[in-house]
Amino acid sequence: MSQMSVEQFASELGVLPAVLLEQLQAAGVSKHMTADSLSEQDKSQLLDYLRKIHGAREEKGKISLPRRQTSEIKKSDSTGKARSIQVEVRKKRVVVKGDLSDRATAGGKPAEPVPLSVLPAPTPVSMPVIDAAQQALRQEEARKQAELIARQTAELREKKQRQKAAVTDTKEPEPVAAPAAAPAETPAATPAAAAPSGVPAEGKAPQQAPTEGTLHKPVVKPEDKAAKAEKKKKQTKQVVWKDERVEKRGLKTRGDLSGGKGWRTRRDKHSKTSTEEAAAHSFSAPTEPVVHEVMVPETISVGALAQKMSIKAAEVIKTLMKMGNMVTINQMLDQETAMIVVEELGHIAKYAALDSPEAFLADTELPATELKTEPRAPVVTVMGHVDHGKTSLLDYIRRTRVASGEAGGITQHIGAYHVETERGMVTFLDTPGHEAFTAMRARGAKVTDLVVLVVAADDGVMPQTIEAIHHAKAAKVPIVVAITKIDKPEANPERIRQELVTQEVVPEDWGGDTMFVELSAKTGQGIDALLESVLLQAEVLELHAAKDAPARGIVIESRLDKGRGPVATILVQSGTLKRGDILLAGAVFGRVRAMLDENGKPVEQAGPSIPVEIQGLSEVPVAGEVVVALTDERKAREIALFRQGKFRDVKLARQQAAKLENVFDQKGEVKVLALIIKADVQGSYEALTHALQKLSTDEVRVNIIHSAVGAITESDINLALASKAVVIGFNSRADTVARKLISSTGVDVRYYSIIYEAVDEIKAALSGMMAPDRKENITGLVEIREVFRISKVGAVAGCYVLDGIIKRGSLVRLLRNGEVIHTGELDSLKRFKDDVKEVRAGFECGLSIKNFNDIQIGDQVETYEIVEVARSL
Ligand code: GDP
Repeated sequence: MSQMSVEQFASELGVLPAVLLEQLQAAGVSKHMTADSLSEQDKSQLLDYLRKIHGAREEKGKISLPRRQTSEIKKSDSTGKARSIQVEVRKKRVVVKGDLSDRATAGGKPAEPVPLSVLPAPTPVSMPVIDAAQQALRQEEARKQAELIARQTAELREKKQRQKAAVTDTKEPEPVAAPAAAPAETPAATPAAAAPSGVPAEGKAPQQAPTEGTLHKPVVKPEDKAAKAEKKKKQTKQVVWKDERVEKRGLKTRGDLSGGKGWRTRRDKHSKTSTEEAAAHSFSAPTEPVVHEVMVPETISVGALAQKMSIKAAEVIKTLMKMGNMVTINQMLDQETAMIVVEELGHIAKYAALDSPEAFLADTELPATELKTEPRAPVVTVMGHVDHGKTSLLDYIRRTRVASGEAGGITQHIGAYHVETERGMVTFLDTPGHEAFTAMRARGAKVTDLVVLVVAADDGVMPQTIEAIHHAKAAKVPIVVAITKIDKPEANPERIRQELVTQEVVPEDWGGDTMFVELSAKTGQGIDALLESVLLQAEVLELHAAKDAPARGIVIESRLDKGRGPVATILVQSGTLKRGDILLAGAVFGRVRAMLDENGKPVEQAGPSIPVEIQGLSEVPVAGEVVVALTDERKAREIALFRQGKFRDVKLARQQAAKLENVFDQKGEVKVLALIIKADVQGSYEALTHALQKLSTDEVRVNIIHSAVGAITESDINLALASKAVVIGFNSRADTVARKLISSTGVDVRYYSIIYEAVDEIKAALSGMMAPDRKENITGLVEIREVFRISKVGAVAGCYVLDGIIKRGSLVRLLRNGEVIHTGELDSLKRFKDDVKEVRAGFECGLSIKNFNDIQIGDQVETYEIVEVARSL
């Protein structure tokens, strides 16, 4: 091989001998004939020459050669699709890669021994180049897939940081994509490396191939990046949107990866066009029961409630039955019950009714937090036993402290007045004692901030004193004790203290929290101290009210005046009441035409804790009604009329709530039976109280909120109404006023004259609340001795009564070898051919069992009954 002809060398290199000759001549090797032999020196001279040329021409030569050669070699190499490959090459060169691939070849070629060796070299170069184009696509796809997975997981992890996820997307996928792309490339690079290895003698090509392999990664990536960057520049938002869509499509194929999100793809199929549409679709297909938000008014009929929940009334009735209430479709339910039913049925219950004008009130009322509140004067009620000096005390204060209007001090009684002292203002309610207090409380209105408990020093704690304490405690209002008539020689304030301690009213200096003031309405001694104590106690309460707001208050007293029409004393509780304001007081409305203070002097406005007498209401309002100033008269009228219509319903609902039977309908772990006991003598009410209190169990508790000697009064009924209590009159009856109130409010009042009767009835009521025990009682046993199968009738058994009595219609159990085969009811019972009511032991009979024919000889039938045993305390 050291000597070969030009022709031989040309054929070895695969070029025309003439071309080689030309090149040799140019290299300075004088060979003219193709048969001339070539020495090693000649060859190296040719190599040097070619190297020189390439060194000068650099890339140009390199590019031109592979380009031309590539297409040629493709033809010889590939089996049939040569042309299509050629196209790919051109594309390749048109695209960015030209540079880099050229540079890649430029790095490799100068190292090659002969320029002609370049010819085979392009093969490996072009192959990966073409593959790279396909790979670029594949890679792109793989990268996208990887990107999607990455994004998916990122999205799942941080749904809220979508943008962040998108940013990481562009960065993250690369490390993910790189390994994905690399293995895809390797098989392509391997044949590229294998192809040249055989052709050139010099071992540069195999080295080149891996170089290219590694070079391809940067080759693909910059293009990828560049394309991506371009895309992003042009349509940043759309890219995200597009990607999301792709992602969803991806989700479809890789459902396993998507986890619970799979359903989205289905939706996507139908509405790829817009995400809004997709959202709309998800709502149009309800898969869960619809949950209604039900506004529950104060009272509602069963039917109306059902309608509100879009269900049948029977459902509501069923639910109530389950709760132990037998109701009809037209029955009124109170708010609480209705709400429980609503919740029970899986809907959301809300207070108040948006469909009532009352809702308007809620709208107009500003939340207390938004209003600037200022300290206000305390409102005080004086309570105590008859003749203990309430009136005298109030009169004294009024006479001496209230700036009287007219000369001569003729003041008007409006039921309340306010007193200015050095320390501040105090408002006194001088409506007849307890009635006002309890009547208002019964309506849920809180008027009084403080109770001044009047106890005469010469008398002591009396029934009404105790009643007053109970009222105050029930209303959670602090007490200031005024020991009156201290000027009297027989006064014994210490005894009063002791007696009050037994009522759990403990003086401060004895370690309690109640202030005691000794005073005399005759001499005026201690009055200042009382006012001071009241203000001191009020300070603790931190009473605040808004001043610059629409007025809210309470009706203290009301009457129909011959000349002036309905007149009402209103205690303003918050805001400022002005003349001309439109008022709504319960079911009564009107405009303030005239406003007088406690001295009968016309005033223009009244702030918090100021009582005023007003004219201009449509009717006489009920004492204790809440008064609200409104801006819209029409609305006020509407609400008033609505309330008038509703009044009846509320009354009916209330009547139910006050009954002893219904006391147990209350929910909660421990049921409480509130009682008010009035008895003829001390001894009997004590005994009764004691006996009744002992009835308390873990399930039901008896709470005696008030017990006293005397007739049942209006005040008792009001207390019962406010505390949802049952009144017990032991040898004591309701007075006329109370009786009227009982009939209008429906408070449950029970009269007894024998203690154990009372105890038994309450006990029965309490026991009634406990579910009765069910007991099974086996009544008889028969043996089947013969079975007749009669068409249409079924199996009739001829049997013998072993034990007890068999009664017609009783419950039966069919036993076979001691096992219960069937449980049911006896259908017929006969002796010979006659129907009989019962068959005793030792007799034969015929029987059949309802809906059961599989009776066999030798079976036994056991009859039994269920006995309900009421649980007792
Ligand atoms: P009310 O029923 O609680 O309003 O009691 P009154 O204020 O009507 O008083 C009943 C009686 O007690 C009247 O005759 C009063 O004169 C008398 N009284 C009231 N307060 C005092 C007082 O502080 N000292 C004396 N000595 N008598 C008083």
